[in-house]
Amino acid sequence: MSCLFCRIVDGEIPATVVHETKTTLAFRDIRPKAPVHVLLIPREHVPNAVDLDRDQLGDLFAAAKEVAEAEGVSESGYRLVFNTGPDSGQEVFHAHLHVLGGERL
Ligand code: AMP
Repeated sequence: MSCLFCRIVDGEIPATVVHETKTTLAFRDIRPKAPVHVLLIPREHVPNAVDLDRDQLGDLFAAAKEVAEAEGVSESGYRLVFNTGPDSGQEVFHAHLHVLGGERL
């Protein structure tokens, strides 16, 4: 299996997991762009955000809210980002929601 994030889901590549549910996994970005930088992914391989179904989107946003609370950025605010397609700078083609916060962005 060549998808990097599928390999993280399968435990083949280590990651600092901060939250998990039956359908989602959240782990720290290896090259953080803010003091809090967590990636949320569906466990199932979906190449990018526009391919996610409504349940998957709902699960990711619910998990993002929980991660933000656990990371202490709910009150101060945070940014949610999906990069979609090559021009966006998307590097990993397994849909992921960036949660960025912990400073004034
Ligand atoms: P994107 O540019 O939206 O595709 O974001 C991909 C993100 O994955 C980047 O912010 C990378 O720093 C991050 N990343 C790449 N490899 C890993 C890894 N092994 N563990 C955690 N984050 C990673």
